Amino acid sequence: MQDCLFCRIVRGEIPAAKVYEDDELLAFKDIQPQRPVHVLVIPKKHVTSLAHATPEDIPVFGKMLVVANQIAADQGSPEGFRSIINTGRVGGQEVMHVHMHIVGGQEPVGPMLKR
Ligand code: AMP
Ligand code: ZN
Repeated sequence: MQDCLFCRIVRGEIPAAKVYEDDELLAFKDIQPQRPVHVLVIPKKHVTSLAHATPEDIPVFGKMLVVANQIAADQGSPEGFRSIINTGRVGGQEVMHVHMHIVGGQEPVGPMLKR
C-alpha cells in the first residue's frame, strides 16, 4: 500500500522508534503515548483492519498476541498491560493498517482508556 502510513514505516520511509521486529511483525512506540508504555504492534503485510482479516492472517495475528507480553515487559510494563485493537468507524480506528496498542507502565491503566 503506497500511501499507508504504517506501510511507509515498515519500508523505512518514515522514522519510528522500533522496539521489536521479526519477519512478519514490527513494533514501535506510539507517537502520542497515552501511558508511560505505549507501543503499536503491526503486521508488516498491509491488512486494513480486523474487518478485512482472512484465514491466512491467523498465524501472524496469533503471533501479535504472543509477542505482546515480552514487548511490554521490555518496555517497562512487566506486571501486565492492556492490548487494544480499534476497528473501523465505530471502533475509532484512525490509521487504516491493523495495529495492536500495548499500553501500560508501573501503575494500572484503569478501567478504560480515555482518548
Ligand atoms: P487508532 O486510533 O487505533 O487507529 O490509533 C492510531 C495510533 O497511531 C494513535 O495512537 C497515534 O498516536 C499513532 N500514530 C499515528 N502516527 C504515528 C507515527 N508516525 N508513529 C507512531 N505512532 C503513530
Ligand atoms: Zn499499510
